[in-house]
Amino acid sequence: LPTVLLIGRPNVGKSALFNRLIRRREALVYNTPNDHVTRDIREGIAKLGDLRFKVLDSAGLEAEASSGSVLGRTAEMTANVLRRCNFALFLIDARDGLQPMDLDVGKWLRKHVPGIKIIMVMNKAESLDDGFGSVISAASEARTLGFGDPIALSAETGLGMNDLYEVLRPLLEEHMLQVVDEATDESNEDCESSEQEESKLPLQLAFVGRPNVGKSTLLNAILQEDRVLVGPEAGLTRDSIRVEFEFEGRTIYMVDTAGWLQRTKSEKGASSLSIVQSRKNLMRAHVVALVLDGQEVSKARKSMTHDEVVIARRAIEEGRGLVVIVNKMDLLEERLYDRVVKAVPEEIQTIIPQVTGIPVVFVSALEGKGRIDVIQQVIETYKKWCLRLSTARLNRWLRKVMSRHSWKDLSAQPKVKYFTQVKARPPTFVAFVSGKTRLSDTDLRFLTRSLKEDFDMGGIPVRILQRAVV
Ligand code: GDP
Repeated sequence: LPTVLLIGRPNVGKSALFNRLIRRREALVYNTPNDHVTRDIREGIAKLGDLRFKVLDSAGLEAEASSGSVLGRTAEMTANVLRRCNFALFLIDARDGLQPMDLDVGKWLRKHVPGIKIIMVMNKAESLDDGFGSVISAASEARTLGFGDPIALSAETGLGMNDLYEVLRPLLEEHMLQVVDEATDESNEDCESSEQEESKLPLQLAFVGRPNVGKSTLLNAILQEDRVLVGPEAGLTRDSIRVEFEFEGRTIYMVDTAGWLQRTKSEKGASSLSIVQSRKNLMRAHVVALVLDGQEVSKARKSMTHDEVVIARRAIEEGRGLVVIVNKMDLLEERLYDRVVKAVPEEIQTIIPQVTGIPVVFVSALEGKGRIDVIQQVIETYKKWCLRLSTARLNRWLRKVMSRHSWKDLSAQPKVKYFTQVKARPPTFVAFVSGKTRLSDTDLRFLTRSLKEDFDMGGIPVRILQRAVV
């Protein structure tokens, strides 16, 4: 399990938060003997929504810190504990605002454990309910510590725990991927073939896009049956409709997520419900098919509206495969047709620079043109998304990449000792980096780009995490 340490000056409410997180479950208290000093650290399994993680309460480590300085032996022990942790929640007291001792803790953290991800927490925020203004001013004060936006919460009342959840969820998920299987290269080869089976599992495909771009028509065209209601009124298909479909022996579940973009409409009720539903569908999908209206594209200065950009980015950020479909191409005369075919892929590349080669398919749902291309691109994307490479193969690749590229050009002169894939769907890798070096963003981009080129993983989000090896 990932481990999270609660840290902060005395009395900010570390134990209260600890108790809330473990919710009456048994806390394990263990000692950290260090010469003649013994300090207690409480450890428990935190439950926050569907998240589970190990939480450590550093309250027992702070005796000497309360003298006003967090240096000395306690600090050394804290640092040792922190190095075993994956994240730290740095608590301050929302009522008191920033205190000199908070600044000390901040400085100390930056100096001694620079690599660890720190999340600021403003506890006791229930006392700020006199008005939102005070929360904002406390938050801007907290931001000066340099650890980003604080989460305002109350360990006493539970206020803001959902915000903590939202922040921790992506971090913990990412971390879980790093739990590397110690399997040998040989068993990893087996893994490669068995994981390929994954790509034969049912594919969840979500159609998203503004009302009237032709999602339902396209769905019907693919199914070649009138199973989805099609009509000219915006927002007619309120509910997300899921249909099952077989293509070349493969099962595909298609969801037409109507309403995803209707939040600007004033009417509440049904449409806002379907937005929630659509969002869920997007997250559940393996591949997201974003449908654009070709005629609108040809008229507008930009191919995509703000909402469409948000969806495209969101899909990639959430680790989904993305296929962009430009519909209603039958309405375009040749000159415009050519312009659209050129403009859309270019614009997508600038919108999502981190992923090259996102497939774009030009279709006419009404005439049934391009329906097979859509399905083929979706399946292609899905296969890449499921790709799993053996550690042996990856490390052969790593050696080649290292010799091919002059690492001198790169900032960190890193030494990547070992490279392995920890997860597919989407492909996620860990680079084990020697000593204290960390790969810079440039290095990571280079590795990601090479990996994608050499293993044909264009168009899907690929993640590389890094871990230090001694
Ligand atoms: P949805 O809201 O995205 O599901 O859009 P619909 O599938 O309901 O389509 C909206 C309107 O666009 C309907 O009147 C369709 O007939 C029309 N339409 C859909 N696809 C095409 C196409 O490829 N070409 C043309 N000319 N019209 C289309």
